[in-house]
Amino acid sequence: MQDSSSAAPALDPAALGRQLFEASPDCVKLLDGEGRIIAINRCGTIALGADSPEALHGRAWRSLLPAAVHADLDAAMATARAGGVGRFKGCMPDPRGASGWWEVTVSPIDGGLLATSRNVTEQVLAELERERLLAQLRSANERMEDVFRQAPAFMCVLNGPDLVFELVNDRYLQLVGGRDPVGLTLREALPELDGQGFVELLEGVYRSGEPVFGSDVPVLLQRRADGPLERRFVDQVYMPLRDPDGAVSGILVHGIDVTDRKLNEIALYESRERFQKIVSQATTGVVQMDPEGRITLANQKYCEMVGRSEAELLGASVLDVTAPDSVARTMDAVQRLAGGEQGVVIDKEYLRRDGTLMAATSSVNALRGPGGEFQGLVAIVVDTTEKRRAEEKLRAGEERYRTLFESVDQGFCILEMIFDEANRPVDYLFLEMNRMFEAHTGLVGGAGKTAREMVPTLDSFWFDTYGRVALTGEPVRFESEAPAMARWFDVYATRIGGPGSRRVALLFSDITSRKESEATLRKLASDLAEADRRKTEFLATLAHELRNPLAPIRSGLGVMRMKGDSPASVARVREMMERQVGNMVHLIDDLLDIARISGGKLELKKEGADLRTVLSSAVETSLPLVESGRHELTVDLPETPVPVEADVTRIAQVVSNLLNNAAKYTPAGGRIGLALRVEAEQAVITVSDNGIGIPQDQLASVFEMFSQVGQHTERSQGGLGIGLSLVRRLVNMHGGEVGASSAGPNAGSVFTVRLPLAGGMQGASGPAEPSLDDGVGKGTHVLVVDDNVDAAVTLSMILDACGYTTRVAHDGAHAVELAASFRPQVAFLDIGMPGMDGYQTARAMRRVAGLEHVILVALTGWGADSDRQKSGEAGFDHHLTKPVQLDVVQDLLARVTA
Ligand code: ADP
Repeated sequence: MQDSSSAAPALDPAALGRQLFEASPDCVKLLDGEGRIIAINRCGTIALGADSPEALHGRAWRSLLPAAVHADLDAAMATARAGGVGRFKGCMPDPRGASGWWEVTVSPIDGGLLATSRNVTEQVLAELERERLLAQLRSANERMEDVFRQAPAFMCVLNGPDLVFELVNDRYLQLVGGRDPVGLTLREALPELDGQGFVELLEGVYRSGEPVFGSDVPVLLQRRADGPLERRFVDQVYMPLRDPDGAVSGILVHGIDVTDRKLNEIALYESRERFQKIVSQATTGVVQMDPEGRITLANQKYCEMVGRSEAELLGASVLDVTAPDSVARTMDAVQRLAGGEQGVVIDKEYLRRDGTLMAATSSVNALRGPGGEFQGLVAIVVDTTEKRRAEEKLRAGEERYRTLFESVDQGFCILEMIFDEANRPVDYLFLEMNRMFEAHTGLVGGAGKTAREMVPTLDSFWFDTYGRVALTGEPVRFESEAPAMARWFDVYATRIGGPGSRRVALLFSDITSRKESEATLRKLASDLAEADRRKTEFLATLAHELRNPLAPIRSGLGVMRMKGDSPASVARVREMMERQVGNMVHLIDDLLDIARISGGKLELKKEGADLRTVLSSAVETSLPLVESGRHELTVDLPETPVPVEADVTRIAQVVSNLLNNAAKYTPAGGRIGLALRVEAEQAVITVSDNGIGIPQDQLASVFEMFSQVGQHTERSQGGLGIGLSLVRRLVNMHGGEVGASSAGPNAGSVFTVRLPLAGGMQGASGPAEPSLDDGVGKGTHVLVVDDNVDAAVTLSMILDACGYTTRVAHDGAHAVELAASFRPQVAFLDIGMPGMDGYQTARAMRRVAGLEHVILVALTGWGADSDRQKSGEAGFDHHLTKPVQLDVVQDLLARVTA
């Protein structure tokens, strides 16, 4: 350069201007005042697509530019003409059609204008690109911010070493209880973090630039002003943020609040823990099994129960610890649960390792998944060995008592009392009873029924009594009648159970028959007393009745002694005396008959007879009495025979007794009827009168011994009260019946005798008529032997009167002696004599020479077959019962002597 400067020619400014003008990279034009091109450099020539500047000379610059920039151009030229510099930028295509950006400056110069156009296309494009990029960034930022704000995680940005909150999202605000921390430091915004280590941790991150991760991090936050510190759990990341230089400028805190999940987990954990604890410490066995029955869990108690360790049990089948007898039951339970049942309770036995058995109750439940699928079993097992033992003991005890109560012959039962609201006993329920209950009560199937159900009319006594026992607890023992059950009971009742128990036990017996026999005994005693009273009365009556006829007889004897020479007087007196004696004999006959019947000694001599004949003879017997009462007697007999099989004497006695009564108990001049008819295979005899009648209540008792209606104190009718008794007994002995009826006092009486009819008549005949043949006995020697002097003498007198030759002896020895000399053809011997009795006398007499064939007749009060047999054995030929009837004696003598 040195050289050039030393050698440089002198500068030509015009040439230099020209040179600069031409060399400019811009398009430079000189314009005249009208805007026409005066000069243009090379660059401008090229830009306007001309071959040479001359080609552009004089052309209006405006016309060479696109219309789009005309307005800007005009404005710029106007500015320049006004002395300023006009500028504009426009897009203008180059001559090849490629568009480009030009920055145009128009400035005034010496009456014209200088226009410079610089190509700024690259600049403009770069600008545009930058703007586009900026817009892109802005929208990305906006999106990021949305994400940041709406993220489900909490986020915040802490700036600078002081950790100033720059950004926080909604979640973060939620986490810290809504406090807006933006602009505050971490310590200012969340003072409660002090001491929890978070600030220090973040500072560390800031310093080191290393991120920190944490999960389930507990943090205590004061989420409400004045509220308590609240524990939250978070999963979080502390992420350092760097500036473009790579230096740490802040920290992004980003995380999730997992408190709810954590609390659930804790709760679950705790409950599981608790459950485990409960199960392991439970005093009942707990065992869990998988669907195949393999043990997956067994608590301590279960291990003890089955006598095995947990290790031994886990994985073992539940059947391995089940007693053989319980296997089927256990399998069945498992199948049922697998099949859908939820729970099953079984009593089973476990097999312990030492071989012993353990009784248990196992309640097994199915474990099911959410879809109900069978996942296994869990069983609660209770050892019932002791319980079972106690039950067995109880059962044995109960059995003993049951056996006891079943074997007693008393009734036993347990009741439950039923009370109403006022606590009054109203009924009772039979809970149980023994076998004998039914026998004692007659009640069948009582258990479960109430007393009122079984015996609706049961009286309240029973409810009251048992109710009192239940309420007071005091036992009672009593005898009482239950009319509703027609029974008497002897009961012991006691409460079972303590106060408040309503159960009463009864031990009882049906004592009805005992009570009945007591009643019977009482009746018997009173009957006996009554009989005794009647007997006493009877004796008095008897004495009276026997004395009655004696008085006229005695006075008759007096008359006879005094007027013995007057046949007429004697005859009248004798008639009177005979009647009185007849009365006495009748009385005594009846008495003796009764005694005979009572002693079973009266025997019927039954024969076939026509009852009509028997009745006729009875009428004959009673006629004197009927006539003395001046009664009218009507006898109504059937036309045809009425056959009976009877002792005709006794039936005649029956009828004449009835006729005598009719005559006695009918006031003089009454009407008496005797009728006989045949009715339904029976002979019916009625004796009726229109006399004093019989009161209704006495109708049955008149047939009893010694009974007399109204007791006839004055005895005007005579009688001992034995006639009807005899009638009934005789009729009964014939297989018949007798009854009385009366329309009442003074309305008369009807006595009806029914006798069975005989099949047919066998030689019916009336009683033999006593035929008195005075001549028969003439010359016949008859010996009469009786210790009763009067009896002996009177009989001998009668026989004398009949023409027999008689002698009398009063004892056996004298009789034998007398017989030896007197040589009787017939001897009447009394049996009952002091010293030698009749039998001995008879034997002694037979031994006397010449008396071997004497006819011996026994005279005795005893007429039974055995008596006859006895007399026969002693050598008697005949047997007569006392008092002997004259006609019978006459008849006998007549036959003997014939
Ligand atoms: P008695 O010796 O007293 O007559 P009976 O046995 O013959 O004894 O009779 C018993 C009682 O029956 C009598 O005392 C009398 O009171 C009553 N009697 C019997 N027959 C009749 C009758 N035909 N009319 C009324 N009363 C009678």
